[in-house]
Amino acid sequence: MGTDILTTIEPSYSSSNLLVANKEWASSMKTSNPSMFTPFATTNHTPHTLFFGCSDARYNESCLGYAAGEVFTFKTIANIVLENDLSAQSALEYAVNVLNVKQIVICGHTDCGGINTCLLNRRNGLKDGHCSHLYSYLDDIEQLRDEDIDFNLNKNVSITQKGKELAFRNVRKQAQKIAQKDFIKIAIQERGLRIHGLIYNLDSGLLEKVEIN
Ligand code: ZN
Repeated sequence: MGTDILTTIEPSYSSSNLLVANKEWASSMKTSNPSMFTPFATTNHTPHTLFFGCSDARYNESCLGYAAGEVFTFKTIANIVLENDLSAQSALEYAVNVLNVKQIVICGHTDCGGINTCLLNRRNGLKDGHCSHLYSYLDDIEQLRDEDIDFNLNKNVSITQKGKELAFRNVRKQAQKIAQKDFIKIAIQERGLRIHGLIYNLDSGLLEKVEIN
């Protein structure tokens, strides 16, 4: 067991270990939020927000500060919204047309592995390995990277800065894709649905606004 893996419980990875940890979690959640696990909470699914983020393990919808039950969540690698991704498109439709969420939050983050892979020209390495789907999937990011070659080749800008800039541009791109969908336009016009772009900073936990227009 290496010391560099972040764990909060004894990492035996057995099912009994999962159940023990779950009991502790349920107990602490009930203490901090008495409304959880009540009949109302278990029969009412009425989130007001759709959080569309990256699958990265280091952040999630809790950064918005809302409680359990308030946010419908969908995460994809590098928070990419592909037109042919049935799961992502279904989540979007369901959140907007059935749950009637009031806002959609597209939230990328710093040090994104999907973005760094493209920035460091490592995408081709996925092609012949065991990640051929990921290779295809990241094309969306690579296209975005190549829209500003001068910036990417600028040696005065660190990879960290370039990654953050590309994360901003990626959130903008994905948000614009969502905003162009007919049913989203209708929801914006008819009931004031809002779309927000955000970047989560892993080193501070703080969010930054992304201008999406
Ligand atoms: Zn990421």
